[in-house]
Amino acid sequence: MNTKQKSIAVLGAGITGLTAAHRLVRQGHRVRVFDASDRVGGAIRTEISGNWLIEAGPNTVLAGEPALTALINELGLASERVLASAQAKNRYIVRRGAPVAAPLTPPAFLRSPLFSLGAKLRLVTEFLKRPRVRLADLSLEDFIRDHFGQEIVDYALNPFITGVYAGDPKKLSARHAFPTLWEMEQNYGSLLRGQIAAAKADVERRGAGIISFRRGLQVLPDALAARLPADVVTLRARVEALVPGKSWSVVWQDGTSTQTETFDAVLAALPAPALAQLRFGTLGERPLASLEGIEHPPVSSLFLGYRREQVAHPLDGFGLLVPAVEKRSLLGVLFSSTLFEGRAPAQHVGLTVIVGGTRQPEIARLPTEEILAVIEPDLRQLLGVSGPPVFQRHTFWPRAIPQYNLGHERHLETMANAERIHPGFLISGQARDGIALPACVAAGEKLATRVG
Ligand SMILES: Cc1cc2nc3c(=O)[nH]c(=O)nc-3n(C[C@H](O)[C@H](O)[C@H](O)COP(=O)(O)OP(=O)(O)OC[C@H]3O[C@@H](n4cnc5c(N)ncnc54)[C@H](O)[C@@H]3O)c2cc1C
Repeated sequence: MNTKQKSIAVLGAGITGLTAAHRLVRQGHRVRVFDASDRVGGAIRTEISGNWLIEAGPNTVLAGEPALTALINELGLASERVLASAQAKNRYIVRRGAPVAAPLTPPAFLRSPLFSLGAKLRLVTEFLKRPRVRLADLSLEDFIRDHFGQEIVDYALNPFITGVYAGDPKKLSARHAFPTLWEMEQNYGSLLRGQIAAAKADVERRGAGIISFRRGLQVLPDALAARLPADVVTLRARVEALVPGKSWSVVWQDGTSTQTETFDAVLAALPAPALAQLRFGTLGERPLASLEGIEHPPVSSLFLGYRREQVAHPLDGFGLLVPAVEKRSLLGVLFSSTLFEGRAPAQHVGLTVIVGGTRQPEIARLPTEEILAVIEPDLRQLLGVSGPPVFQRHTFWPRAIPQYNLGHERHLETMANAERIHPGFLISGQARDGIALPACVAAGEKLATRVG
């Protein structure tokens, strides 16, 4: 038991908030978690319907983050964890209207039809780059072009960024979106040499693989919530205002009335648009209002089930990514039933099609039947899909993933300032600490340690 027990409000029951709450309860603090929705998990949302398992949000997690591994073990979920199938090593990228397997080894790269001889030579010369410290940030596209040339930008960076951020490498900041690459350039010059050195040094992360859980990623937030004492999580509680003083008053709406409770500290694990809305003090100022400026493009995720014979492609991979220059209606397709077992009934396959992002936000906003009509020719041409799906689930994310665009340091400063001006108020999560799920777990753990 902690001798300096504090009362702490955690705003948001996504993976960041739940991880922080779990740790704080274990440290002996009195914790209350507020979430505006009627479920825990935030962006993590698994649905099971008959023999279909649908991931509406994140589908896969890159293992190897020590905080995530420790949490999975602590929650007793290690036996539930599933590793992506061996076939998922293959990644397809569309080039000249057809899926081409991305090369996985240096000899395969030299033979690959995905890149021209010029691009291959350019990659070899990248090894010669000298360490450099840049005075100013630049776009991820300019940064990668500087190292590898335009073809790698078009057919490697662009689809990769589409898969991770649903974003635009022309707008993303090299320094903030990929800080490890930024540092590699300073230390090694060559990003290829940096990658090789990092892989050798970080034995734990190397080859850790891609994981989920037998019953989907929702298992993780559910297990965290289940470990908390019964009265800790309050759902359907939209926090609207915080009043600092000797202690913090948290003001929330429970659907019918306004409620208030006081705490020693407030940890906000909310997405940027929700942080921007928070009113502070009796005058109702919004010190985080400018975070509204963090771009969050809309994304639609369509889980489509087919009879096996309706899809000609062998689906022997993680999925397919579409570079912008190929001008297609979809951003990518995950081969969900190849990735993990138990995602589709026998003799069937499940695909997760992602549309929208910064590239085509208007497609993400269409009704389901219109999206299906728009993507049908591409699914037919790229994967040999014939006939309508026998099962479908459409999830629309109006503000999917925060983009760490050029100038992101402005937003980081806004968050740091709010913490400085308001002792006892801390911010963590996807707006600040990295967009991937393991980064959010690490951020939640760190948040708990910052409560003095
Ligand atoms: C479509 C999609 C696909 C993704 N794919 C991957 C992937 O494959 N791999 C990966 O690693 N990551 C992926 N991510 C990213 C990852 O899922 C998120 O970054 C992570 O889950 C965010 O966790 P969080 O707790 O910080 O925020 P969130 O999960 O957004 O949780 C914030 C919570 O705050 C609540 N809230 C909002 N406003 C208020 C308020 N005023 N009062 C109280 N509560 C409020 C919300 O209801 C929500 O539950 C994906 C994200 C999306 C959207």
